[in-house]
Amino acid sequence: MRLSDLKTGSSGVIAKVNGHGGFRKRLIEMGFISGKKVKTVLNAPLRDPIEYEILGYKLSLRREEAKMIEIISEEEARQRLSSTEDLAPIDCEPNCEDFVLTAEMEKLADERRREIRVALVGNPNCGKTSLFNVASGGHEHVGNYSGVTVDAKEGKFNWKGYKIVLVDLPGTYSLSAYSPEELYVRKNLSEKMPDVVVNVVDASNLERNLYLTTQLIDMNLRTIIALNMYDEIVSRGDEIDTAQLGILLGVPVVPTVSRSGQGIPALFDTVLEIYKGSNPSLTRHIHINHGIELEKSINRLRDIILPDAELRSKYSTRYLAIKYLEGDSEIVKMLAAKPFAAELEKARQEEEERIESVLDTNCESAIVDAKYAFINGALTETWKQHREARPRRTITDKIDALVTNKWAAFPIFIFLLYVIFQATFTLGQFPMDWIEAGVQWIGEQVGALMADGWFKNLIVDGIIAGVGSVLVFLPNILILYFFISLLEDSGYMARAAFIVDKLMHHLGLHGKSFIPMVMGFGCNVPAIMATRMIESRKSRLITIAIIPFMSCAGRLPIFVLIAGAFFPGHAPLVLLGIYLLGIVLAILSAVAIKRFVRDDDLPFVMELPPYRVPTGKAIWRHTWEKGRQYLQKMATTILICSVIIWVLGYFPRPTGDVDTPQAQTEQMQNSYIGQIGQAIEPALQPLGINWKMGVSLLTGVAAKELVVSSLGVMYAQDTPVVSDNADDSDTALQAALVADIGWPSALAFMVFVLLYFPCIATFVAIKNETGKWSWAIAVCVYTMLIAWLMAFLTYTICPGL
Ligand code: GDP
Ligand code: MG
Repeated sequence: MRLSDLKTGSSGVIAKVNGHGGFRKRLIEMGFISGKKVKTVLNAPLRDPIEYEILGYKLSLRREEAKMIEIISEEEARQRLSSTEDLAPIDCEPNCEDFVLTAEMEKLADERRREIRVALVGNPNCGKTSLFNVASGGHEHVGNYSGVTVDAKEGKFNWKGYKIVLVDLPGTYSLSAYSPEELYVRKNLSEKMPDVVVNVVDASNLERNLYLTTQLIDMNLRTIIALNMYDEIVSRGDEIDTAQLGILLGVPVVPTVSRSGQGIPALFDTVLEIYKGSNPSLTRHIHINHGIELEKSINRLRDIILPDAELRSKYSTRYLAIKYLEGDSEIVKMLAAKPFAAELEKARQEEEERIESVLDTNCESAIVDAKYAFINGALTETWKQHREARPRRTITDKIDALVTNKWAAFPIFIFLLYVIFQATFTLGQFPMDWIEAGVQWIGEQVGALMADGWFKNLIVDGIIAGVGSVLVFLPNILILYFFISLLEDSGYMARAAFIVDKLMHHLGLHGKSFIPMVMGFGCNVPAIMATRMIESRKSRLITIAIIPFMSCAGRLPIFVLIAGAFFPGHAPLVLLGIYLLGIVLAILSAVAIKRFVRDDDLPFVMELPPYRVPTGKAIWRHTWEKGRQYLQKMATTILICSVIIWVLGYFPRPTGDVDTPQAQTEQMQNSYIGQIGQAIEPALQPLGINWKMGVSLLTGVAAKELVVSSLGVMYAQDTPVVSDNADDSDTALQAALVADIGWPSALAFMVFVLLYFPCIATFVAIKNETGKWSWAIAVCVYTMLIAWLMAFLTYTICPGL
């Protein structure tokens, strides 16, 4: 009977806890373990939750949850005792009946526990029926289920002291609500609740067969893969690392040949192990990663479903969320009756629109794609196909062979980076010149219209110069984002992550750390948030700690400005060098930090989506989205900060006139900003950084883009001295800088900017993602130290070159 039916005051012994993994785990942690005695303290028909006593504790369970627990009640034990004559209670002490009853309940519960319901699930023609026949021997009870159009057979046999009830379910390619077979199998899994699911997989058609497996993983059932038709794998000369595949999927994999019966004993041994939970290393529940965007949608829907106790006890809420997002008709119908239905549907529509706009495809196909990417990743890692036996190669295979080649992979990657920086520079130069000219023109026009005075100064030197100097770099940033989107959307990024996976392991990182790192070139904040897709805590923490060394787009304007001014002929090369320096220091830091973080390195699948020619629409949308964010930042943070810097630089006013350049410089030095700059100057002097640059670094703490705008404000008064090594394309600011400092200082400044304190937004992101202020603070201190040291080395060594 079910625990929910146990009357107030009666006891029973737990035989089984049914349901999906998450639910069972929670109940077992509460103490609902088979063989334990449980007593109902209060079970009124309309009362929910019901109160129980187990192991001396009082606990309450919702009725729906209690329904999932099978027990043997005193009544059942009494019935059994009275039906068996020789066990009828003899005269004994008052407590004796109780004792006998409990013993009988325990015995019955154990009998019940020793009956394992096993369901065979798999694609049509994968060999389920053959396996069924070979296992049940065909001589035990084999009968068709009645009342259904689809065919299912049940067979019973004994295995090492357990009674196995094997059900051969109809073949299905997936668990969607498309065909009666699929629905039937799904219903069977969630209502009949088999104890163990044996997923029969046709080894000669792995990719398609594993699709069903990914859905079983979502359902979080106790599953085993029977890798059937293994004989064909062997005869083809392929090799599959079944142990590793099992670890990656979180589901043990047993090779079988159901036609001959090979591997079947091992299969049922594993069934016993899984059922008894005697080998925890065999199973771990994994979440198939559907990519950042889809995961956001899944989590949003899941959070709406989660409070519902009935659903939560019967289904994995993650599974429901995925199915609902797919628009699965049965699940949609089921959830439509819930009080949160309207909220859920609204969330789904919004998420559908969002996914449509960021991924350029609907949720259903995005989920299918993600699952195949997962399968492809798992197989690439574990399956060595024999050369001749390989089927006709697809374009994806051919490109993969090249870009993941042992020797070619890294040069290709570095080459791509170089092309990107080259393009960022050369293509970016034209619109940059136009914008620069435009900003200057606006400044002049506005200046001509206004009367002299502090207000004109604020508008022209503060706002227009400050915001303008950042606006100039919008084209560069768009170009960079364009390429990052291209790499991501085409599927190359996932390969790059795959290639570096082994290397990354040496650093305590994971191949998956690579994508956030590359995203860091765009902006550190989303990159740090993207580390959520890394399952291992250790890899996550290290990745977060080193992302600030990835030079973000906010730093790009500074490098473009300085490299362009001081190294006119080699700017792209200097830029590549700066980026590589960031990468190298990130790697070295990872090695160092690795020692301080607790190890929890679990293997997981690297998803490999097929190559795709990205649609212009999607690329444009991604690129523009970033450009918009950049402009928004400029309109708010940078505008406000420009004004603040201007105020600090404009006041206090000297008594006399400030007409001559000399008087202007003097005024600047005596201003508040000058005073702050001079206060920190001693710390920066060994790096060849003067007080104006020092001030710009301070402002960069708010946002790195501000470094350029504050330099713009502070150098706005310097009459651009036309110097010899500044060529015509130089902006006024560049000319002023070249006139003011030497190239070693410039280089040291770039190095410092690359490495020092990540901006405030990044700081907050680190705190949020690690959950600890200490991590955020440690990262800041660490990056400051490294920045100072590296800039010092640059400034000291360079002049000697
Ligand atoms: P079901 O549709 O999943 O029930 O698959 P069946 O059990 O009916 O098997 C489909 C076909 O595959 C039959 O012709 C079987 O003989 C064959 N088959 C089943 N298991 C194996 C196996 O392990 N190796 C090989 N080579 N053939 C198998
Ligand atoms: Mg069959």
